[in-house]
Amino acid sequence: MTDILRCEAVPLPQLAAEYGTPLYVYSEQALTQAYQQYAHSFTTPNTLICYAVKANSNLSILKHFAQLGSGFDIVSGGELARVLAAGGDASKTIFSGVGKSEAEIEFALQQGILCFNVESLPELDRINTVAFRLGCVAPISLRINPDVDAHTHPYISTGLKANKFGIAYADALMAYQHAAQLPHLHIVGIDCHIGSQLTDLSPLVEALERLLLLVDKLADNGIVLQHIDLGGGVGIVYHNENVPDLAAYAQSIRQHLQGTNLKLILEPGRSLVGNAGMLITRVEYIKKGEQKNFVIVDAAMNDLMRPALYQAYHRIENTTPRPQAPMLVDVVGPICETGDFLAQDRKLAAQTGDILAVMSAGAYAASMASNYNTRPRAAEVMVAGSQHRLIRRRETITELMANERDYV
Ligand SMILES: *Cc1c(COP(=O)(O)O)cnc(C)c1O
Repeated sequence: MTDILRCEAVPLPQLAAEYGTPLYVYSEQALTQAYQQYAHSFTTPNTLICYAVKANSNLSILKHFAQLGSGFDIVSGGELARVLAAGGDASKTIFSGVGKSEAEIEFALQQGILCFNVESLPELDRINTVAFRLGCVAPISLRINPDVDAHTHPYISTGLKANKFGIAYADALMAYQHAAQLPHLHIVGIDCHIGSQLTDLSPLVEALERLLLLVDKLADNGIVLQHIDLGGGVGIVYHNENVPDLAAYAQSIRQHLQGTNLKLILEPGRSLVGNAGMLITRVEYIKKGEQKNFVIVDAAMNDLMRPALYQAYHRIENTTPRPQAPMLVDVVGPICETGDFLAQDRKLAAQTGDILAVMSAGAYAASMASNYNTRPRAAEVMVAGSQHRLIRRRETITELMANERDYV
C-alpha cells in the first residue's frame, strides 16, 4: 500500500472515490513553493510578480496567489472579474491581449488597473477614447516584439516577426511618440512576452537587452519609463527537459537593470501552477488493437487539450502500481476524434478500474477545458497536507443544456 501515489499526504485513489473522475487535483504546498521561488529569486523590492491568470483561473488558486502578495496578468474582462472576486488587487493587475473590447477597457479603467499592455496603434486610440469618455487617464505600456527566437513550439512562440502579437521593434519609437500625443494616456512602461515553455532562458535575457536599448532611445526622445515587463514563459519539466535556472535568470536581470530606476514586472503562468496539478482518470477499457493497444480512460482532450493541440507530453502513472509487465499503449479518451489522446506509445501496466495520474496538469488544462461531446467539465480539488476540499464542483448535464432555447 505504501507505493500508492499521493498528492501531499492524500492517496489519489481516495480522492477518485470521493469526488469521482476525471478530477483535477492541486497541491497547495506546490503552489506556494512555486510562488516563493520567484519571490526569493527576485529579491529587489521593485519587482512585481503578476500571475498569468489564463494558465489556471480557478478562484481558489487566484485567492491563494493574492494572499501571497501576487499581482495578476489578465487577458479579458472575465479574468479581471475573477481576480476581483478572488480578492486580488486591481492596482497590481495588468491587462494584456491583442483584442481588448471597449467594454473591457472601460471595466478595467473603472477598477483602476496598474496598466494596459497595448499591442497596436488602433488599441492606443481606443483606450484614449474610452479614457476621455470616462474623464480619466489610462496607464499604458507597449508590448514590443523583440524579434528573438524562443526556440519553443511554433504555437506557443510569440516573439517572432511573423505573429500577431506586439508592436514591431522597428515601429516602437513611432508608436510611443503616437501614445505621447494622446492626452488621455499616461505612458508607464514597456513589455514583451516571447513565448511559453522556455527551458533555456537565454532568449528572455536577449529580449531584455533589446528592450533596454529601446528604453534608452525613448529617454533620448523625452519618454521616460517606470517599468519593464518581461512577460512569462519560464518552462517546467514535463518529461526530460532541462530545469530552467530561475536564479540565474534573476541574477542576469538584476545585472542588466543595475543603474536604472526601472521597476521589474514578470508574468509567469505555467511555472507557478503547471507542476502543482494533475488530472486523475479511471481506466474504462483495455483494448487490444491490431497494431496498437489502447488504454481507454474517462478523461479526454476536452479535459486536457495540450497533447492534441501541440503534441505535448504529459507523464502518466498508475496510482496503484501493478506487478505485471508494462504494455506499449496509447492512453486515449472517449471523444470521437483521432486526436483525442493523452499519451502515445507509453509503457504502462494498467487494468480496468485503475486510477491513472496525468502529471503536470496544473497549467492550461482546466482553464482550456471544453464541453465537446457534451462532457461536463471535471471537478477540481485542492489538497493541503492531509486535508482536501472541492474548489469547483463537477458540471451537470442540465447545466450544459441550460442556455439553449426554442427546441420544442
Ligand atoms: C500566456 C501569457 C503569459 C504566461 O505565459 P507562461 O508561459 O504560462 O508563463 C504571460 N504573458 C502573456 C502576455 C501571455 O499571453
